Amino acid sequence: MSNIWSEALEGLEPRLGAQTFDLWLRPIALEKVEADCLHLTAPNRFMKEWFENHYLGVVLDEIRARTERSFEVEIAIAEGETEQGAAADTQAEPSTTSVEVVDAQQAASAEPAASLSAQVRPTAFLVEPPPTKKPVRSHEPPKLSSRYHFKSFIHGASNDLAASAAWAVAQAPGERFNPLFIYGGVGLGKTHLLHAIGHHLQEHRPELRIALQSAERFMNEFITAVRSNSFDEFRRRYREDCDVLLIDDIQFISGRDRTMDEFFHVFNALYEAGKQIVVTADRVPGDMQGMEERLTSRLNWGLVADVKAPDLETRVAILQQKAEEDGVEISDEVLLHVAGLIRSNVRELEGALVRVSTFAALKGVPITVDFATSVLGNQTTAEQAAPLTIETIQKVVAAHFAIRIADLKGPRRHKGIARPRMIAMYLARELTSSSFPEIGLRFGGKDHSTVINACKRIRALQGLEPDLAANVQSLRRQLSSERPD
Ligand code: ADP
Ligand code: MG
Repeated sequence: MSNIWSEALEGLEPRLGAQTFDLWLRPIALEKVEADCLHLTAPNRFMKEWFENHYLGVVLDEIRARTERSFEVEIAIAEGETEQGAAADTQAEPSTTSVEVVDAQQAASAEPAASLSAQVRPTAFLVEPPPTKKPVRSHEPPKLSSRYHFKSFIHGASNDLAASAAWAVAQAPGERFNPLFIYGGVGLGKTHLLHAIGHHLQEHRPELRIALQSAERFMNEFITAVRSNSFDEFRRRYREDCDVLLIDDIQFISGRDRTMDEFFHVFNALYEAGKQIVVTADRVPGDMQGMEERLTSRLNWGLVADVKAPDLETRVAILQQKAEEDGVEISDEVLLHVAGLIRSNVRELEGALVRVSTFAALKGVPITVDFATSVLGNQTTAEQAAPLTIETIQKVVAAHFAIRIADLKGPRRHKGIARPRMIAMYLARELTSSSFPEIGLRFGGKDHSTVINACKRIRALQGLEPDLAANVQSLRRQLSSERPD
């Protein structure tokens, strides 16, 4: 069935031209066809929207002409998966009452296993039917993004540890850095590294069965399995038929007790069997609110490595590579200029390049610095004007005083924590447009009067305690230069 897609695209290539085709159509992938609906994925929101607005109609016409059928289309965004599954089972975890729980241990471990068949895909390891009485399962390879290889990942100071550790894991899975925990902000290469490990292993260790999954999908599969009251397959898939488990965005399951519990057991089973586990998240294990301590402690067992916003040189190198990949002619001067404008997110950096090169191609003009500025104007002011958030303030304050963000939000009144908390509240009030109640809410649901008092105290104490004043001063400086470079 996926032929209809590739055939239609092939048919369109001569009409659209190779460059347009490569830039806009090739990255859109057909995931599956369900009844009359084509499920596509686009690498990012920009590509998705551009494709929808400019090419979807032509592609559908082409498909209709070839198949004499009309299709609807659902386009998901491949990374981050914010638009996927949102409508499905994402929200509600299975409540204990929805399953017959025999005993806690068994419920936690033996739980779900139903309709995940289509989703997790260990590599083709067993050619013969498995020697169980279970129905034959498909041992398909994991879904790996074709773009995310080690060779296309640019090393820089910002990601050196994470990239080297990922490489080491791909060389010798289960031997060093187990688990490997990669964390960092959005669009900084976590998913790229996870897929790169998958690609490398698939190529060099084809005997290994790899499960790569977003935590969200893991949870959805778990829920489906719970609902259909059949855990065996799920359990086998993740605990037994799995040599390498790659889980993206684990923060997604924090607070989802049953899923965390299940993941905990999967983790233990694989870890004890010496299987490699790699997990990504947007923050360190200890900062994931609602994540069970026994789980965060396990996630800390191996190596915890961060990816930060890349420095200017790395950004330029990323753009150079991207331009080369896309066959875009663009001077180093312009690349430097674009890299200077978009600083904190590689995905946006790539999007900026695509935007500039596409507009230039559409208008038939050369790509100059002025042209880039005119195209990216809005985007860059948006980034520059991106307001400081309470989360950022909490992160910086917690790091400054070497305490946990959870403590800043928690109830403890110990001076070593209460003071930083008051300072963070004060800075949140001074540096953001948030109201007192909102700040209270973001600090673990405290009353607005607590925030008002904190602000008053810190204002007064600055005149009395030079140390405290210096701390506040230094934090202000840090927060105003939060942006890299
Ligand atoms: P995250 O998972 O951290 O949100 P992704 O891995 O999805 O980020 O990366 C976003 C985009 O930026 C991807 O297209 C990825 O290929 C690219 N990218 C990020 N870091 C690098 C890097 N160091 N070298 C090359 N491309 C990168
Ligand atoms: Mg990601």
